[in-house]
Amino acid sequence: MVKLSPISERHPHFLHGDGNNPDQWIQMPEIVDGDIRLMKLSGCNVMLVGIFAWSALEPEETKFEVSWLDKIIDKLYEDGVNVILATPSGARPAWLAKKYPEVLRVQSNLVRNLYGGGHNYCYTSPVYRKKTIQIDSLLAQHYRNHPALIAWHISNEYCGECHCDLCQEAFRNWLKIKYNGDLDKLNHEWWTNFWNHKYSDWNEIESPAPNGENSIHGLSIDWKRFVTDQTVDFMKSEISAIKKFTPNIPVTTNLLQGSCRNLDYTKFAKELDVVSIDTYPAGHYEQPDWKTACNTAFTYDFIRALKDGKPFMLMESTPSMTKWMRTCKLKRPGMHMLSSLQAVAHGAVAEHCGHGVFQDVTEVGQVLKKLDSTTGTVTKANAAVIYDIENEWAQDSIYGLRNDLKNYKQEVLRHYQSLWKNSVSVDVISSEKDFSKYKLIVAPVLYMLKPDVARRMEHFVESGGMLVTTYYSGIVNENNLCFLEGFPSQLRKLLGIRSEEVDTLYDIEKNAVNINGQVYEADTYCDLIHSETAEIIGTYEKDFYAGRPALTVNKVGDGYAYYIAFRGEHVFLDDFYTKLVIENKLKSVDFPTPEGVNVQKRSDGINEYLFLMNFNPEPIDISLDRCYHEIFAECNIEGILHLNGYDIKILIDCH
Ligand code: ZN
Repeated sequence: MVKLSPISERHPHFLHGDGNNPDQWIQMPEIVDGDIRLMKLSGCNVMLVGIFAWSALEPEETKFEVSWLDKIIDKLYEDGVNVILATPSGARPAWLAKKYPEVLRVQSNLVRNLYGGGHNYCYTSPVYRKKTIQIDSLLAQHYRNHPALIAWHISNEYCGECHCDLCQEAFRNWLKIKYNGDLDKLNHEWWTNFWNHKYSDWNEIESPAPNGENSIHGLSIDWKRFVTDQTVDFMKSEISAIKKFTPNIPVTTNLLQGSCRNLDYTKFAKELDVVSIDTYPAGHYEQPDWKTACNTAFTYDFIRALKDGKPFMLMESTPSMTKWMRTCKLKRPGMHMLSSLQAVAHGAVAEHCGHGVFQDVTEVGQVLKKLDSTTGTVTKANAAVIYDIENEWAQDSIYGLRNDLKNYKQEVLRHYQSLWKNSVSVDVISSEKDFSKYKLIVAPVLYMLKPDVARRMEHFVESGGMLVTTYYSGIVNENNLCFLEGFPSQLRKLLGIRSEEVDTLYDIEKNAVNINGQVYEADTYCDLIHSETAEIIGTYEKDFYAGRPALTVNKVGDGYAYYIAFRGEHVFLDDFYTKLVIENKLKSVDFPTPEGVNVQKRSDGINEYLFLMNFNPEPIDISLDRCYHEIFAECNIEGILHLNGYDIKILIDCH
C-alpha cells in the first residue's frame, strides 16, 4: 500500500478550516468566540490566522504584543482546533513605511508607491528583510512548543515586482553572476547589436519599463527570472527564521496560479514542505460551469505536479459568493460541496474557506470525515501537459504571432480541456520536469525550447511515449534568441517535418483541414510545413497552401510524435485526443462520461477511489461497467448511477 504521510502527524486527517483575521476583533473578543463555536459546529479542525496581523503584533517599532494571539490560539487548542500561523510580511504597518520609505515598492516607471495595499513591499530592502526576520523569529520562538501549531504559512500570495534602486543593483549583480561578469556575452545573448541597444557598462542596464527599455527580449525574460529568484530569496529568509526555532513544523505559502503570471512557481515549490493554492472559481457565469471546473482542474493539476504528486492544500476558497468579483454570484446548492471535493479529487488534503454558508460548510466537514480513508492516497497521472511559464513570458515579450492576442495559456487550456473531457489523469508541468513516467506528453506552442528538452523528448518517444506538439514550436532558445537552423530546430528530426513559415489569420478568416474525409475549421495560425519522414494525416483545404500537410505523425523507436500545424476548432481537438486516449487506454475509467462529467482517481496502491463529478446543473445517468461501492451512501451500485445536478459520488471497486 502506498500512502503518503500527512502534512502534520498531529492531525493525520483531512484539514477543513477557516481563514480568519481575528486581529480585527481584538476589542470584541466575543466575535472570535462566536467564530470558534461555529467552526466547531461545522466540523472545522484548523484555523489560518495572522496573515495581515503585523500592526497588531508590533503596534510600534520593537513594541511587540502577542497576548491577544496567545488567547486565541489557546482557545482554539482547548476546542480541538489546530492552527496554521502566518508570517505577516504580506502587508507592512504604517509606521514602518513612514519611517523607512525604502520598504515600499517602486513601479516600473520608477515612481515609488505610497503606503497602502498588499504586495507593496520591496523584497530586496535590507530594512524590510531585517524587520520581517525579527517579527517571524519572535513568532516562531514564542509558539514553537504550542501544541495547536501544525504548519506555517509564509507571507501571503507572493506576486508583483519592485524596480527601486536596491532592486536595480541586485538585478545587475544577478546578471553578472549569470553571464560570468562578461558584458559581451550578455550583449550577444540579448542581441543588443540590433537597433542600437548595446551596453558598454553594467551600470547602464535598467529594468524593463513602459517609458524606457522594453524591446530587448532577453532583458525582459531575465528580469522576470530575477524577480522570481529575488522573491524566492526573500521567502527563504523568512523560512530560515522560522525553521531555526521550529525545524519540524512544515511550511507552505499560498500560490496564485492563474492570476499571478510574473513568478515561476516551480522555484517556490522547491523551498516549501507543502504547496498551497487559492482558487475562487466564478461559477454560473458566462460559460458552462463545466468549463470553469475544467480551468480549476488545470490549476489543481499544476499545483499538485509542483511537488511531484504530493498532496497540496487548498488554502483559500469561498463557500458562496466572492465579494471582489464584477458580479458577486451566489453558488448554487451543491456547488460548494462539489468545488471542495474537486480539490480533494485532484490531490488536496486541506480545504479552507472564509465565512459563508454555515450549512454548506458543515456538510463538507461531515463528508471529509467519511473520506478519511483516502488521506495519503495519490493521483497517478499517465499524461502530462506542458505549461511552461518562461515560454509564456517569451511569447508575451515578442513582436509576432497575433500581437493583439497572445494566447499561450488559453491554447494550453484548450488541449487540456480535451483530455479533461476524456477523464484522463493529467499533470501540468514545465518542460524541465521528468517525462519518463508518462505515456503522453502534450506540448502546445513550445515556442521556447530550453536546453536538453529536445533530446529528452526524443528519448521519451523512442522509449514508447507519445508526443503532441503544435505550430510555433522550437523557435527560440532560453534567452529568446531565434534558432538559425530552421524550425522546429532541434525537434525537426523527431517530428519528421520542416516548417517554412506560419500564416497568421484575421478573426474573420478560416482555413479548413481534411483528415480522412472529415473537415475541421482552422483559425488564427496555419503553419506551412513539409514532411521529411512523417506520415501526413491531414491536409489544408484552402488558400495557396491547399493540399499541404496540416497534421502529421512520425514513428520514432517505439513511440509517435504528432505535429498539429494549425489552430483547430474544439471539435478537432476533442476528436483527435479522444482517438488517442481510447487507442492507448489513457482514460481513468472504462465507462462513458457525458459532457460536463469528470472522473478523477486517487489510489493507495490497493484501492482506487473514483471521484465522479457532475458539473452540469441537470441530473445525469452514468452506465457503470461493473459493480462499485459508493462511499457516501455505503451501498453497492451496478448498472446505472444517477448523479444529480452539481453532484459528486465516490466509488471503489466492489471486489
Ligand atoms: Zn525594491
